[in-house]
Amino acid sequence: MKLGVERVEVGPWPMNCYLIRCQATGSVAIVDPGADRELILAALGEGEPCCVLLTHGHPDHIGALDDVRRATGVPVGIHPGDAGAIGADADFPLLDGMEVEVGGGRVRVHHVPGHTPGSVSFYCQGEGLIFSGDLIFLGGGRGRTDLEGSNPGELKNSIKKILSLPAERLSILAMGGRQRLRKRENTGRNC
Ligand SMILES: [Zn+2]
Repeated sequence: MKLGVERVEVGPWPMNCYLIRCQATGSVAIVDPGADRELILAALGEGEPCCVLLTHGHPDHIGALDDVRRATGVPVGIHPGDAGAIGADADFPLLDGMEVEVGGGRVRVHHVPGHTPGSVSFYCQGEGLIFSGDLIFLGGGRGRTDLEGSNPGELKNSIKKILSLPAERLSILAMGGRQRLRKRENTGRNC
């Protein structure tokens, strides 16, 4: 079932929060509510929020988590490797290979450690969409590996894994920067 995507630019950095919306049922997964609760809630519109999905636990990705959670009451998913960042607040673990239902659609979780131990990317196979977290960015950037818990070798392997996902074309939806949604060929190159 078709999933649509909306980008909400939040925070002063800026950071991209995404809404993954089932076109048929109106269910919405909120990805990385980094800041600006009001903007995110306004973007939800008539949609029915079903969960918050976190790519990892860095502050610029979870800044509005408590507010959004309080306002919507939806469960929050994060990989166990990063769950410490949000304390005991994770409602369900995001594990490699699992699928999260968003209305009639499915979002697959890929564990992509390197930037943080519990980094994940979200993949919508039917739409060829990847929510990369801080693994890779548009324009040639890759995630920082000079932070506590980072691992450059793991990051490299994770990028390979993500770029080899089966899709004719992959659209990488980066979380950082003022970037437009943009198509990118799946060439297998690191970007
Ligand atoms: Zn990060």
